[in-house]
Amino acid sequence: MNKCLSGLVIGGLVLFYLFGSVAFAQATELKVVTTFSILEDLVRQVGGNKVEVTSLIPPGADPHSWEPTPKEARLVAQADLLVANGGGFDHWLISLQKSAARPGVPLVIVSDGLTTLAHDHEHEHHDHGHHHEGDPHFWLSVPNAIHYVEQITEALVELSPEDAPYYLARSETYRNELVKLDQLILAKLEQIPMENRVIITYHNAFSYLAERYGFAVVEFLVENPEGEPSARDLGRLVQLLKKQPNPVIFTEPQLNISKRYVQTLAGEIKGKVYVLYSDSLDANITTYIEMMEYNADTLVEALK
Ligand SMILES: [Zn+2]
Repeated sequence: MNKCLSGLVIGGLVLFYLFGSVAFAQATELKVVTTFSILEDLVRQVGGNKVEVTSLIPPGADPHSWEPTPKEARLVAQADLLVANGGGFDHWLISLQKSAARPGVPLVIVSDGLTTLAHDHEHEHHDHGHHHEGDPHFWLSVPNAIHYVEQITEALVELSPEDAPYYLARSETYRNELVKLDQLILAKLEQIPMENRVIITYHNAFSYLAERYGFAVVEFLVENPEGEPSARDLGRLVQLLKKQPNPVIFTEPQLNISKRYVQTLAGEIKGKVYVLYSDSLDANITTYIEMMEYNADTLVEALK
């Protein structure tokens, strides 16, 4: 082998080594821990194959009654980024960050910057010993989910600026999909006549959906699914349902306890029961977009 050729071979090996190591560095994933499954999906949409996302609350579980165990503390200890909803929904992640996360690991509260809707009912709900900051289910209005995605994008870009172009491109594509989703929902729900635009549910989750998509009244049995409804709450809802031209009550898949009450109510008023997704994805509905399309289709089927 002459000098020149061996120089090329060595040069090639050096180049291979350099690019090989760059490729290796790029394959390193950020470990992101979210509180619940809907945030997990939003992080995955932006982070793609550069993030490894874990939801602490498993799909199909009720976030309101869920509590972290040492297993979740271990997941938080390995995280590069923590993502919570805020609004009192998943407050426990703040204490878990303090006790378990590595120093300097950021926590993004995705609802920061959004305006909270308080429920303004004439009746009084039971105080189950919880202090609620209003309805924390911001994500059930698509423009709010777009705000969540912006917060997530900012956090990922800040954490690994070298991957900014990747995150920004994916974020833009996904936000465009969400804008289309919002338009699709608005168009679908136009089929529901004004007098039927009432959503009666088990727990207080749908005020942002109602505000965005033009539902006049949202009623519910319990403020928070940790508590159970009283006879008075049930009586009040029976009266309200009886006034509806088309009495429908919605249950939610993650709330097992709600089924009994909702069936009782529906039996009493000879109304129908439908399922809306609120707080959790599951084996049937695996993404936020699927969930919102399913909800829009269900509302149309139930109320048109
Ligand atoms: Zn909820």
